Amino acid sequence: MPFPQHDDHFPRAVDPGLARDSVLDLPVAMLMDLDDTIVSYSTYAGPCWKRVCHNVADRIEGVGGEELYRTLAEARTWFWADPDRHRANRQNMPLAIQRVVHHGLCRLGVENWELAGTIAESYERERGKTIKPFPGALETLRKLRECGVSMALVTNGGAEPQREKIRRFNLAPFFDAIFIEGECGYGKPDTRIYMDALRGLDATPGDAWMVGDNLEWEVMVPQRLGIYCVWNDAKGAGLPEDSIIRPDRVIGSLPELLETENLHCESEPSERN
Ligand SMILES: [Mg+2]
Repeated sequence: MPFPQHDDHFPRAVDPGLARDSVLDLPVAMLMDLDDTIVSYSTYAGPCWKRVCHNVADRIEGVGGEELYRTLAEARTWFWADPDRHRANRQNMPLAIQRVVHHGLCRLGVENWELAGTIAESYERERGKTIKPFPGALETLRKLRECGVSMALVTNGGAEPQREKIRRFNLAPFFDAIFIEGECGYGKPDTRIYMDALRGLDATPGDAWMVGDNLEWEVMVPQRLGIYCVWNDAKGAGLPEDSIIRPDRVIGSLPELLETENLHCESEPSERN
């Protein structure tokens, strides 16, 4: 299992006052999602698709940029709605996006795998520029470490693109252990990855919080294991009206983890379950 070197880690509890004041409200261990929790991943997907579609539309006879954008949006929704297709394809996002675009083009009567690849590459380039840590996210990770919280990154997707983001934003020093679906051979919502992460931090479910943006993967499933689950509602959308999933806590951004007055758990997290 890939553990970062201790020499590379940001220090723990360098500010004894901060550690003493905050530690009562923070858990022993925290499992953290990457995309759309630490870094903005899908926030700018829509605008990127729109730009790319309008740029390439003149290469497709009789199809306008807006029609292409709408059709690819429908194709994306269809493609990613199937859990098995989602799992099988998220390991190779460039190929997955090419498949989505190809499917969309076929809906428009254009069967052109090469053009689908060109559009997919153009989109990946555009979106790569927009992926960045949310405001305050890195500072929050640093403070959590300073407070002595054991930290594990638990992220789905292929090893290479996830490692690239970890390198690009220098995230490894914040974490005691890193679990990537593409390296482990399984990912969320498979409970094995949560058990691996708990073992990696030498923590019990009652010791730990999971923080993530996916209600099913990162709230419902780890909650069943007895982990305290914090839903990161970065879009501010609120819980879907028909949702039967009830997070233990809802935040709009990672810095709220440190706003102790907002904690609704009156007791130590380890006392729940
Ligand atoms: Mg996520």
